[in-house]
Amino acid sequence: MTDTLHILKVALDVPLDRVFDYRTDKPNTQIGQYVVVPFGARKMIGVVVGISDTSSIESKKLKSIIRLDPEVIFDEQSFKLFQFCSQYYHYPLGQTILSAVPSRLKKINTKAMAKKYLYRLTPKAIELGIDQLPPRQTTLKRIVMALIDATLLDEASLRSMSSAWKKSIETLDEMGWIEKEEITLDDKVYIQAPIPSLNDEQKKAFDEISKTNKTFAAWLLYGITGSGKTEVYIRLIEEALKKEHAQVLVLVPEINLTPQLESRFRARFEKYMLVTLHSHLTDNERLTHWRLAKEGQAQIVIGTRLSIFTPMPHLSLIIIDEEHDASFKQQEGLRYHARDVAIFRAKSENIPIVMGTATPSLETWFNATKTKDAKKFGFLKLTSRAVLDSTLPEIKCIDISKSTVTKGFSPYLVEAIRDRLNKKEQSLIFINRRGFAPVLLCSSCQWTGRCHRCSSRLVVHLNQKRLRCHHCGHDEKMPLQCPSCGNTDLYPTGLGTQRVEETIKEFFPEARILRVDRDSTKTKEALNDLFLKMKNREIDILIGTQMLSKGHDFPYLSLVGVLDTDQALYSPDFRASERLFSQLMQVSGRAGRAKTKGEVYIQTAFPNHPIFEALKTHDYEHFANELLKERELAELSPFAFLVLLKGEAHQLTHVMQFLNDAMIHAQNLSAHVTVYNPVRPMMERLKGMERAQLVLQASSRVALQKLLNDWVPYLRENKLAQKVKWVVDVDPLEF
Ligand code: ADP
Ligand code: ZN
Ligand code: ZN
Repeated sequence: MTDTLHILKVALDVPLDRVFDYRTDKPNTQIGQYVVVPFGARKMIGVVVGISDTSSIESKKLKSIIRLDPEVIFDEQSFKLFQFCSQYYHYPLGQTILSAVPSRLKKINTKAMAKKYLYRLTPKAIELGIDQLPPRQTTLKRIVMALIDATLLDEASLRSMSSAWKKSIETLDEMGWIEKEEITLDDKVYIQAPIPSLNDEQKKAFDEISKTNKTFAAWLLYGITGSGKTEVYIRLIEEALKKEHAQVLVLVPEINLTPQLESRFRARFEKYMLVTLHSHLTDNERLTHWRLAKEGQAQIVIGTRLSIFTPMPHLSLIIIDEEHDASFKQQEGLRYHARDVAIFRAKSENIPIVMGTATPSLETWFNATKTKDAKKFGFLKLTSRAVLDSTLPEIKCIDISKSTVTKGFSPYLVEAIRDRLNKKEQSLIFINRRGFAPVLLCSSCQWTGRCHRCSSRLVVHLNQKRLRCHHCGHDEKMPLQCPSCGNTDLYPTGLGTQRVEETIKEFFPEARILRVDRDSTKTKEALNDLFLKMKNREIDILIGTQMLSKGHDFPYLSLVGVLDTDQALYSPDFRASERLFSQLMQVSGRAGRAKTKGEVYIQTAFPNHPIFEALKTHDYEHFANELLKERELAELSPFAFLVLLKGEAHQLTHVMQFLNDAMIHAQNLSAHVTVYNPVRPMMERLKGMERAQLVLQASSRVALQKLLNDWVPYLRENKLAQKVKWVVDVDPLEF
């Protein structure tokens, strides 16, 4: 062999932590290009992660690549990020890379970038106003309203408002109401929106963070809802974008990426190209937006967790809103935490990162406030609401152990709602979703419907008269008599949104009620309708589960009723009270955001629980510091680092054997890591699979990672692993 070989090191989407060698006759291949290669009897998509002129495989056994895609899909920085994630989360490099790029690309589609348009109202439309539209055209109205709010909207935002958006746009076009423009870099339109001048605390935050603008620094921007964090982000972004070509990445929880938030940013950054990345986009849009970011054209990217992997050649600032939100953690495949990956990225690109929230995760709180070692994060505080005459709501606990509760409602709460109805103000009834779905109960033998495939109770869907498993989707007819004793008196227990709605209807037949849950708001369209109706005071009482993204002012909402939270107070999950607190803070923030004074009523049998004391005084800090003490005593996060190994199999003995073996091996590997016994999780069975798990715990992240480096390959080689499906979750959020 005298020819120089071109060997490509190819990462494939297979659960093996290695790369594969292939031969190519194309000498100009680059790292980051997609290839199609033969793999066994199949063809597979892979990505070039290395180029060499040698291979440990005999040259005649080397196979050639089948196809090479010309697009380079990641740069050196992104590659570093993938390598870090692969190592830290112990997930194969190929799978890491292939789960982090838009799916359309994986099909090797090199179609040119689609044209993108932005829409705006014509001066004529603005002059005529919304009243001139035909009365029953609600979609048309909604689109025009949104355009009035946002000035410019792209197709993705329009689609999220209505599936019939195209027709509406055509109609508006025929009426001479709308103008469209292609997105290009030169398209600069300046619009004057009223810009508040920063208050002292905002100014301090802005100044401090700006000082570090050119290098890595991590900041916690801690401030209650409405304290003006978003305004600070906007100023920081403006500042960062003064540098030529600069790009900024804004990460938000999925539920917060609403057209309202997008509009606010678009209004303020009209002369910049802003793209969004989230699951409501079509594959094609996602790809286009992602490419605009990768090519350095999009200056602002607002996206959910996955967008942390977007290649951005001139990234200058990362912002994470609602840093504490659990949706930043991916719960399958590559189990990364977008906040942690973002911090790594900021460090590696030497740029600042700002994390904002009203209720920091305890990990972040610890990193920003601990005094012992050097603090990891800078700490900035906004202590009051930015809009002058808005005040914090008053929070009251109603002791339900001392009061008569009718169908979940204490008389105090009922009176408070009545009072709001009389005053023509709005109320929100909040139900803590976790564990409060209604189950069917037999009054004589206590039988309840259970899923035969999962260890969960079946949830009553009264309207359809069906019982459903919320874990596996199993669905059956609601029985008319008890399958166990034949009794016909079966009734739903627990508070589901539907039952609460029915009860409220009984109490207040004249009220206009809207129930919001996953079933009733599948689309953003529905969500937008809701905001519009609240704004127009077409709703008196809103009933909801996890309520509702920040940034939405309900100016006439003055009462929040929280029905039942007690299960979370005594949950075995050590993060339950942290979560409950931030959830209740957030929901309280719904009341009295404008000039109406707000009240929050929390029904509980434990009114003296410290969590409520802290809520009443809006004192996250005290609460967090108390929790930190508990965590330190219990050696839990952030004082210890955890890893969860989860296994499942058709037979419990197989899982247990696998986990026991894993446990013994781990114990032999390191004396600095505590290895716990395998246990069954709360959900012992899921979709017919028996489950168990074990926890590793260490006070040193390095020691833990060192162990994992040997342990995970061992697990991959383990014979039992063929019968057991297992995953390793580093820094798990849920147990
Ligand atoms: P957060 O992100 O903390 O919830 P926002 O930045 O959304 O807070 O601010 C809440 C409201 O206060 C918004 O309507 C915003 O326009 C307004 N606002 C923010 N900063 C100021 C300020 N300095 N002066 C007056 N209004 C402000
Ligand atoms: Zn029975
Ligand atoms: Zn099930």
